[in-house]
Amino acid sequence: MTTQKKYDVLVIGAGLNGLYAIQKLKDTNLSYRCVERNADLGGTWYKNRYPGCTLDSETLTYQFSFSNELVDEYSWERRFSIQPELLEYINHAAEKFDWRDHIDFDVHIKNSIWDEEESCWTLSDENGENEYKARYVIFATGPLSEPLYPDYPGRDDFEGLQGHSINWDERFDDLTGKRVAVIGTGATAIQIITEVAKKDCQLSVFQRNPDWATPLGNGQLTDEEKARYKGEAAQENFTKLHNSFAGFEHNFIMEGSFLELSPEEQKAHLEEKYYAPGFSLWLGSYADVIMDPETNKVVSEFIADKVRSRVDDPVIAEKLIPKNHGFGLKRVPQESGYYESYNRPNVELVDLLETPITRFTPKGIETTEKEHEFDVIVYGTGFNAFVGPFESINIVGKGGVSLKEYWEDGVKSYLGMSPHGFPNTFMPLGPLNGGTLCNFPRCIETNTDWVIKCILAAEEKGCTQINARKESEAEWVNTVAEVASTLLMSTVDSWFNGQNTDHRPNQFLAYFGGSPNYQLRLEDEVETDYSGFEMT
Ligand code: NAP
Repeated sequence: MTTQKKYDVLVIGAGLNGLYAIQKLKDTNLSYRCVERNADLGGTWYKNRYPGCTLDSETLTYQFSFSNELVDEYSWERRFSIQPELLEYINHAAEKFDWRDHIDFDVHIKNSIWDEEESCWTLSDENGENEYKARYVIFATGPLSEPLYPDYPGRDDFEGLQGHSINWDERFDDLTGKRVAVIGTGATAIQIITEVAKKDCQLSVFQRNPDWATPLGNGQLTDEEKARYKGEAAQENFTKLHNSFAGFEHNFIMEGSFLELSPEEQKAHLEEKYYAPGFSLWLGSYADVIMDPETNKVVSEFIADKVRSRVDDPVIAEKLIPKNHGFGLKRVPQESGYYESYNRPNVELVDLLETPITRFTPKGIETTEKEHEFDVIVYGTGFNAFVGPFESINIVGKGGVSLKEYWEDGVKSYLGMSPHGFPNTFMPLGPLNGGTLCNFPRCIETNTDWVIKCILAAEEKGCTQINARKESEAEWVNTVAEVASTLLMSTVDSWFNGQNTDHRPNQFLAYFGGSPNYQLRLEDEVETDYSGFEMT
């Protein structure tokens, strides 16, 4: 039996983005519904339950800012909250604002087909049990929600327990006495490895390329820190975040250059930034740290020395130091004792650059050196970032063109919000969007506010279609690429440019022009009566 429901707006995903959209849609006279593929809300913080799963944005900067009451009543304890705390917060907010009433759970949208005659989208799940008609669709599907699995032969032959970090569940919780493999050494794996290493188990880390990780600096929030996000001070600080480069309290130092400092000053600066919390060294140092190859080399060498000083075995230490890219040219993993994990007798590092994996076997993983036997294999192998969530849905726009086809040679989307030919479609954190490099909740709020404003503007005009203009889209794709061309980051393979997948063209998917510039573009659209769109 198919049930069909009709709404003005369908929001896909009940993570932070979808929940914020629900809250804002309440203030309109539009009918709306949110659909969520999971059994409950929370998105990233519902799914990612692996040990050590912790924020790398400062908690206080990560909370919703739309309700003073919520901000004032909620009590945070950790500078960087752990997953259960974040999920509890999201649930608290959901109760307070009755978000669950607006969500259909366990509905996995697989098709979204444009109906030109009716100017609306028909959306359905895999077996067609649930069908929705919506005039507008907000894809709140998350930038890092589609896992990537390594393509090694025989993966299904493995007889033990295996799973991706995003699918960690209670079956993985008791690792006592087990032989555990973690594949990958990105931000996720680094958190998992650090915690699993402390357990009474044997841990083998399969590393292809190491990454540069810096200390997270977690701890209890002081009363003084908490007070900065209460009452009027909170709103002032949210405004500052709104005007900052990426929604963080860390801002690049734009005056002068790191290389102008004396060697003593350089050392003192790096020592301070290395140990300061969060992305202090990545986003809070001189911009040339990640823009200028010479500066980047000095900073990378400083961090390499830190790794050498923290890892007892010099051979292992060298293997943990990246040789194929400099510090900060990928999103920087934050760690809490990661390097010291390799000083434990129960942890071994398998260097896949020396002994690559040849296949999986029923008992474990075979490398060019030998067969390693395991009870549990965990994939910390990352995500088909930004684009994956859209590739996983059959989205067919005007003229029967599928989004997959439209993006085959590279993503095209005006403001990273809306692709031409896919009317009434909005992607508040889609590829090429200004929110891609942001402390997500901050840009979610800004971008979703804009989306709803745009929908209301179309409604007021009596328009039924909002379609990004092809020429505006081309200009924006060009703008994102031009900014990217100035970045050392775009020279390194990572999920920022789709090069962690085996099928995406090399295209920098994040807008690196900064939140304020992106916001100006959004405001410009409002002021020019949405001139980048055809409203018909
Ligand atoms: P990732 O950064 O893409 O790292 C994936 C890792 O898997 C890399 O070490 C990669 O090695 C390895 N890998 C991939 N395919 C492999 C293969 N076939 N064989 C062996 N190794 C393979 O993914 P992630 O660690 O999940 O992190 C993604 C993003 O999630 C982060 O950058 C961050 O934005 C977010 N995140 C945030 C937090 C937080 O808020 N605290 C925590 C975790 C993650 P290569 O480098 O050789 O490809």
